[in-house]
Formats: sequence, structure tokens, C-alpha cells
Amino acid sequence: MLGLNKACTLLVGVNSFLPQSAAFSIAIATKNHGMTGKMLTMAAAVRGDDDAVVDAATREIRIMAPLAAVVSSLSSPASVVSPANALPAANAFESSLQQNFPGALSNSAVALRVAAALRDRGFTSTNTLFGSSLCSDEINDTAESLVGDLQNKLGVEGVFNLGGLGGLPFVGISGMGAFTSHAPVNGKIFIVFGPHVGISADGTVGKIERVGKKSPSGACGAGIGAYKAIMATNTPKEAKEAIGTNDFQEEYIIQQLSTRLDELKGKDPNNESITYVTNKMYDLVWEMLRSEINAFTTKPDFWGSVSEVTLLGGIVVNRGHGDTPGVPGGEDFYQPLMLKSLTKDGESDIYGEVFSDFPALARPYRAAKYV
Ligand SMILES: [Zn+2]
Repeated sequence: MLGLNKACTLLVGVNSFLPQSAAFSIAIATKNHGMTGKMLTMAAAVRGDDDAVVDAATREIRIMAPLAAVVSSLSSPASVVSPANALPAANAFESSLQQNFPGALSNSAVALRVAAALRDRGFTSTNTLFGSSLCSDEINDTAESLVGDLQNKLGVEGVFNLGGLGGLPFVGISGMGAFTSHAPVNGKIFIVFGPHVGISADGTVGKIERVGKKSPSGACGAGIGAYKAIMATNTPKEAKEAIGTNDFQEEYIIQQLSTRLDELKGKDPNNESITYVTNKMYDLVWEMLRSEINAFTTKPDFWGSVSEVTLLGGIVVNRGHGDTPGVPGGEDFYQPLMLKSLTKDGESDIYGEVFSDFPALARPYRAAKYV
């Protein structure tokens, strides 16, 4: 939580980054919105932060909260900055988010940082091909969704949808081939990917309030449905069963997850188990995506027409939308887990450049190949 000391540290830190003539005013908040991840990292270094692990709410206010509100609070002798009035009220959603998906940031914070980093790397509105591999669920394609936000901030015209159920890039080699062939001449490719999971207002992982529904429903239904199917049987699905069915995407997920959920056998579903399943879904998405990308980036002539492929991977955490009483709604969150750049010279990890002020992400459940 943002106590008085933290608030002062934040203000001093940001102010020290600005020209001396900069007024200590609402302009500070505006400046902060324009800071890149690298700049924020530098600001953190200036502050001499030693809180390597900070809670999500603190992270959030560092990036997005209007500092003017804090400034005005400090300037009034009658007011005292306390967690209650400096931050949105802590609630069950936020507690569950922090506990189960540490390091998650609001969509707009992620988009702000990543778009700035991409611009620094030469991504422009006319040389960038943007693709996403997220679940088909409509809650991932709202006006406030991560993809839409990134699209706006990058200024790109459209988005190639690689994802099917669970966020797995079921377009396959053919779809990936079509996608990469659309890259502008000497262009750059950016892909955001990952599974998704809802957290309801009462903090339940795997549930979300949907517009016009009386009670929360499952999200991601594909991942949780597969988990339930696997727990209900003792025999792993044969791969061949997934082919030729009229439900092949879900059958594939069940088959692929069936060997990865032994930890959960005999346990009742709870927040931890759904979080575990979601992390395994991340592995599935990444492994399939990397396999498809490799099919093209390993071709000698691929890098003759594409200069860079940047991959942003993480877990989308949806929150309730709509008119459910008592559910404030708002932006979804995203737990960033990977930011890689691929070029003809190899692969570089640029996660630290963008998210290094939010280090020490727990990765207890992931064991993907190709990490
Ligand atoms: Zn889904």
C-alpha cells in the first residue's frame, strides 16, 4: 500500500526525473504517463528502491494513478495520505489478483510500457504487423482489451487473430505462414499471446461476471473444462482421438493437459488449482506458438524480409464487466511473463528493459519447453 513515505518517495522520484523548472503540478502526472518502462526503471533507480517485490496495487499507482490527487492531498494540512484515500479500496478481486498472479498490471499500463519499448526499437504504424494469440472468448475483445489498447497505442490498422480456444494458436502452420507473409517489406512483427482467466468480484479464480448473466460463469471455459474432464478420468486421452472430431480444439487441450495436471489429482478445485491450470495453459500456448514461429524463422530467407519478431507472453486476467450490482468492473489485467526479440542474429530477452522495476515474478507452476 502507498503510505505517506512511499507517496513522498514516488513524488520525489518522479520530480527528480524532470527538468528543474518543471512545475510541481498536475503536469507531473501527465509526464509520468508518457514515461517508458526504461524511464520508469531509471526513476526507480533514482529513488533507490529496495522493495524488490511490491504489491500490484502499489505498482499500479506508480504507473497510472494521477499524482495530482496525491499532490493535492499532501498540500492540504487537513488531509492525511493513507492507503484508504491514496489507492482504490483494496477488495477481494485485488487481493486474489495479487496472490495468484503477482506482477499483474492493468492493460493500459502494460500497453503503455510495451508500445513505448516497441517504438524505441523502430516499430511504427506502417512497418509493423500485429498478431494476437488469445482465447476466442468475447471478454478478450472489448473496447478496453489488451489487444485493442496495444493496437491503438501502436497505431496499427488491424490485428491477425492466431488464437483459438484457450489462446492456443490453432491457425497452425498455414495460418502462421499467412500471417508472416503479410509483414511489410523489411518490416517487424509483434505478437501478444497467452491464456486468460477470470477473477470474480468475490475473488474466485476462474469465474467472471458477464453482461446480462445473473451469476458468474467460467473463464477460461476451455482450460477449466479440460481440467474437469481430466479429473473425471484416469486415462490420458490418446492423441488420435483429437483428430477428426467436431470439437478438436478442446480435445487437443484435454489431451495436452492430461499429462500435466497430476499435482491436482484428488484435490478439490480452488483458486490455487485453477491458477495452476492457467499456468499450464500458458505453457501450451507458448509451446505451440514457438513451434509455429520456428517453422518460419529457421528458414534462411525469412530474415530477408522481416527484421524483427517481438513476442509478449503472459496471462490475461479478466474482471467483471457489465451491470452486475456491486461489481465495479474496469480494465482487465495482464501478468507479463515474457518479452523476447527474435532477429537473424538470434534471440534477446528484453523483459528487463520494460518490466525490471517489477521483478521477482513467481513462476512456480510453469515448465514450458522453449522457455
Ligand atoms: Zn477462454
